[in-house]
Amino acid sequence: MALARSPLQGQPQEDGGELVQMALDVAGSLDPREVIARILERGTHAVRADRGTLSSLVDDQVVVEATYGRGGELTWVGQRYALDYFEGQPLVKQAIESLQPAFGGRLALDKAAPEFRQALANVRHVAVLPLVHRGKAIGMLVFSRYEEKPFTGDDRAALTLLSAISGLALRNARLYEEGEAARQRADETAARLRAAVDAAEDVASQVRLDQVLGRLLERAAASVGADGTSLARLDGGEMVIESTPTGELVGTRWPLMPKVLAGVATGRAVELSAAEYTGAPPGMELVVQPYQRFLVAPLVVGGETIGLLAMGRKADEPFDPAAVQALQQFSTLGALLLRNARLIAQARDAEQAKSEFMSVAVHELRAPLTVTGGYLAMALEGDFGELPKPLRHVLETAQRKTEEAKALAAELLTVARLEGKALTPNVKPVSVADAVREALARARPRAELVRANVQMEPGDEVMVLADEALVGKILDNLLNNALTYANHPPTIQVGASREGEQVAVSVADDGIGISPQDQGRIFGRFTRGTDPLVAEKPGSGLGLYLSRGLAEQMGGSLQLQSSHPGKGSTFVLRLPAAVS
Ligand code: ADP
Repeated sequence: MALARSPLQGQPQEDGGELVQMALDVAGSLDPREVIARILERGTHAVRADRGTLSSLVDDQVVVEATYGRGGELTWVGQRYALDYFEGQPLVKQAIESLQPAFGGRLALDKAAPEFRQALANVRHVAVLPLVHRGKAIGMLVFSRYEEKPFTGDDRAALTLLSAISGLALRNARLYEEGEAARQRADETAARLRAAVDAAEDVASQVRLDQVLGRLLERAAASVGADGTSLARLDGGEMVIESTPTGELVGTRWPLMPKVLAGVATGRAVELSAAEYTGAPPGMELVVQPYQRFLVAPLVVGGETIGLLAMGRKADEPFDPAAVQALQQFSTLGALLLRNARLIAQARDAEQAKSEFMSVAVHELRAPLTVTGGYLAMALEGDFGELPKPLRHVLETAQRKTEEAKALAAELLTVARLEGKALTPNVKPVSVADAVREALARARPRAELVRANVQMEPGDEVMVLADEALVGKILDNLLNNALTYANHPPTIQVGASREGEQVAVSVADDGIGISPQDQGRIFGRFTRGTDPLVAEKPGSGLGLYLSRGLAEQMGGSLQLQSSHPGKGSTFVLRLPAAVS
C-alpha cells in the first residue's frame, strides 16, 4: 500500500493540537487497511516509538494486522492467535482488561511467539493501548522504544487520545466495510431478482402450458445451480410430477415427506441431504440416487400452495442461501405464471368449445337453408305452376333473404374454423393478377347493377405464397364493400405492387368513407359502421374481421390504409411474396 508520508515523520510531536490533527487525519479514511496504516505510521512518529503494531480482537482471537517500523516499512501480518496466548503478557492483559493504556519495560520474551522474539529482543519500553468501542476492546496498539527512554506523562496523555481516536476510526472503517459488503450482497440479490424478472417475462411470453413449465424449470435450475429439476402439483398428501426437462416421470406420484410438508406450510424452501430424502416411491429410487442435495420450494399463489419446485444437486455442496432466497422469489413468480397459464389454457378450451358449438350450429342451419332455397328457386321457376304476382314478389324477397342467410352461415362457418384453429391454409404460389381478375369477374353482375367503374391497374406481375381460395374470399369481401358503401356509382381501383418480402394488393373506392371513430372498430367481430347508409345495407359486420383473420393466417395482414368520409377508402392486403 502506498502511504502518504506524514508531515510529522522524523519530527517528534510536542504539541497536543497536532496530535488531534493527526487523529483527524487517521479518521479521514473509510478503508480499514488504510486506517490501520495511518494509525501505525502517524502514531509511531507522534509518540517517538521505533515500532508500532496493531492487532484486532475478534471473538476469542487476536489478529495481528500490521506492524510499522520507524524506518518507514509497513508489513501486513494477518497472523491469528488464540486470546489466551497473550495471557503470558501481563501488560497486554492489563490493558485489555482495564481498557486503559499500560506501560512497562519489555514484553515477556519467552512467552512471545517465535517470529516476534527477534524484534522484542531490542525493546526497552512498551506502551499497550487498547482500542475501545462501546466499552469493549476491539483491538490494541503496541508501541515500543528501542532506547532507554520511558514513556512520559505527556506521552501517556497523547497515547490515550490516540487510542480513543484509533478505536473509533477503526470501528467506523469496519462498519463501513460491513455496510459495503451488505450493499454488495443486496446488489447480488437485486441481480438475482432481475434474473427472475427476466425469466418471468421470458416465461410469460410462452403461451403453452408445457412450454411455460419447461422454461420455468430451466431458469430456476440455472438460478440455484441445480443438475436436476422437476415441477409437481400437490394432490392431497402427494405430489404429482407435472413437468421435467426431459418429460420423463411426468404423471408419477410421490409422497410428501414431513420436512417438506412443514416447509410447504410456511411457504419456504426446504433443503434436504441425500440421507434425509426418503420419499422415492418403490421402483423409483434410482431417479434420486445421483443427487446429494435437494431443494424443494413451494409454488404459492394468494397464500395457497399450488405446487412444488424440486431441485437436485449432484455435488454434496449446500445451496447458497442467497440463491435459495432468489428461488423463493422465483417460485412466487413462477406460481403466478403457472396459474395464469392454466387460466389461459382453460379460457382457450372454452373458446374452442364455443367455436366448435358454432360450427355445429351453422352446419345445422345450412341444411334447411339449402332445402328452403331449393324450393323457392323451383317455385319461382314455375315448377309449382303460375304464381300470382304478389306471391312472386314475396317469394323473391324470401329467396334473397335465404341467400343472405346462406352467405352468413358460410361466413360464420369460416369464422368458427378460423377461431377454432381448424383452418389450415393450403399455401402455394398464386398469381395476384389472376386472383384479382377472377374476383372482378365474380363481382361483375353486382358492379353492373350499381353501374360501377372498376379498374384494374397494370401494377407488377407478382406472385404470392397464399391459399388461392382464401385470397379470393378476401378480395370478394373488399370489392363487395367498395360496391356497397357508396351513394353514387362508385369508381374502384385495384392495384398490386411488390414491397420487399411482401406483395401489397390495394382496393380503393370513392364511396362514403369511414369516420375516424369507426376506423378503429370496423375490423371487430360483428361490428358495422355507424353511418346511416350502412344500416340500410345488409351485412353482418363479419367481412373485415374474417378477411383480416384469413390474411394473418397466411402470414399477411389487412389494413385500412386511408379513408376520408365522403371521399372514399383504400384497403391494403399484404401477403408474403413468392420467391421468383
Ligand atoms: P359488413 O360489410 O357486413 O358490415 P365488414 O366487416 O365487411 O362488415 O365491414 C365493417 C364495416 O366497415 C361496414 O359496416 C362499414 O361501416 C365499413 N366499411 C367496410 N368497407 C367499407 C368501404 N369500402 N367504404 C366505407 N365503409 C366501409
